[in-house]
Amino acid sequence: MLAAVTRSPGEMVIEDVSDPGPARAGNVIVRPEAVGICGSDFHLFSGDVGALSGARDFYPRVQGHEVSAVVIDPGDTDIVAEGERVAIWPLLPCGSCYPCRAGRPNVCPRFRLVGVHLDGGLQQLLEVPASAVFGVGDLDPDCTAFVEPASIAVHALARGRLTSGEQAVVFGAGPIGLATVLAAAAAGARVLSVDPIPARRDLAKRLGAERVAWAPEAGLLETVRDWTHGEGPLLVVETSGEPGVLPQAVEMVSAAGRVVVVGMSSGSAALRPGAFPEKEIDVIGSSCATAEDFLNAVRLVSANRACIAALFSHHFPLARTAEAFEFAMSRPPDAVKIVVTVNLGQLKTHRPEGDR
Ligand SMILES: [Zn+2]
Ligand SMILES: [Zn+2]
Repeated sequence: MLAAVTRSPGEMVIEDVSDPGPARAGNVIVRPEAVGICGSDFHLFSGDVGALSGARDFYPRVQGHEVSAVVIDPGDTDIVAEGERVAIWPLLPCGSCYPCRAGRPNVCPRFRLVGVHLDGGLQQLLEVPASAVFGVGDLDPDCTAFVEPASIAVHALARGRLTSGEQAVVFGAGPIGLATVLAAAAAGARVLSVDPIPARRDLAKRLGAERVAWAPEAGLLETVRDWTHGEGPLLVVETSGEPGVLPQAVEMVSAAGRVVVVGMSSGSAALRPGAFPEKEIDVIGSSCATAEDFLNAVRLVSANRACIAALFSHHFPLARTAEAFEFAMSRPPDAVKIVVTVNLGQLKTHRPEGDR
């Protein structure tokens, strides 16, 4: 079978690799169909493994952690059946550390991620634990691959304790930010989305944002203050990874409000610590997703598949995965979700790039 193998930093080649064979105990074999490319993939691809947990052997590695697949061998599990389409929760926690015991396996310091520490979806067959597969019914492959990024948004809002009717500001309208807008609006919140790219602000509106904004200077605070009648939003979610957003979020949020940080960054920013006691705000980190979040993400994506379809901007076949990565890393402004199609036949995979 064919696999896109990241052999060493910056070097991805299509290789013939051996099949997994029949499913081993507790595992299932799936046939990937669509794999979303995500900003976190670039760290491993470019050799920036310091951002990834643990000192492990990362190369060679088959990447891909946003996976839609069809079960071809359910092994000894009855959770899923042969032929069923599944989304893959890529997290394999250790099960014994404090976060695992506390029901928060998503921050297990020893977790392994499919597509990062274990081979992922950018290959024609994949073996994963039965606990990782979630049936998605008649959801299409692109939307199924979007369940994983949607689960990040679901988890962030759970961390932020969002409730219906609240006003929330979401910084960043990339795939995670847009999924956060969607999940918050679906939960009955009123959402203001902040992003510099007009096309992304338009998508945020389509996914349920009441207002969109981009004002790098003082204008943004004013806009948000007006929108919330001077009080400030009860929840601010930062998904952009821009270190400078957190100080703005802390100033903007309502007293007794919450700020959730999802965006990854190795940068730093100057904060005014006095704002914390002054307003008694909660500043909360959010990482990955639990199995419960993942199940909720399957429901969220299923219920909103029509508007989510607008996010899949570019498709590449497996044979052109390296090109897809380079294209994604060049951050073209019209790109939102770039998808690699695997095993999906010639018609779909041979379309020129940039269509749809
Ligand atoms: Zn991702
Ligand atoms: Zn653990």
